[in-house]
Amino acid sequence: MKRALILDLDNTIYPVSSVAPYLFNKFFLLLNQEADIDSSALTRSKDELTRRPFHDVADEFGFSPELRNKGIEILNHLTYDEPMMPFSDYHHIRKSDLDKFLVTTGFTKLQYSKVRQLGIENDFKEIHIVDPEVSAKTKLDIFKELMDKYNYRASDLLVIGDDPQSEIRAAIALCIDTFLYDPGNKYPGATTTYRGDSLEKVLVIIG
Ligand SMILES: [Mg+2]
Repeated sequence: MKRALILDLDNTIYPVSSVAPYLFNKFFLLLNQEADIDSSALTRSKDELTRRPFHDVADEFGFSPELRNKGIEILNHLTYDEPMMPFSDYHHIRKSDLDKFLVTTGFTKLQYSKVRQLGIENDFKEIHIVDPEVSAKTKLDIFKELMDKYNYRASDLLVIGDDPQSEIRAAIALCIDTFLYDPGNKYPGATTTYRGDSLEKVLVIIG
């Protein structure tokens, strides 16, 4: 019997593709106002940037320190203020009586603005933004803190997310059951306790 659910935000509660064009236009517009920045690495990395954390992409594409710093400075202040909708199957999670926690990685202001626009703030007992600009803490650290604070055993929890390398991996390291939400079947070989293309399946698992 599970006592609590821990959810990821991006591509777990809503599709990033629904905000990416507007958000990245805003980002690239601001960045392009910086005349002294060599943006060739940026142009090559555009697609990746819509999918992965800025820091990781900056490392992989060899962003200059100027580009990296300017990008972080802009992202630190960016918010998303347009209407947003959760995935159509999110309401299955919302109606569960279990305690729910949101643990998401990203820039603090931006992640909070998305939570606000989605209208999901009150669905969660606690919301944690893992922001590399603010702290060296990882999702694994936050999971551990929640277990300590609420006396959860690993078996009390289910972590729900779309990324085998992020929340799913952290949960597995702590022996917490995982639900890989993979509607596009992008990770057929990923290690996970459960998997599914609908969040409705989570209700079956938690019985
Ligand atoms: Mg995600």
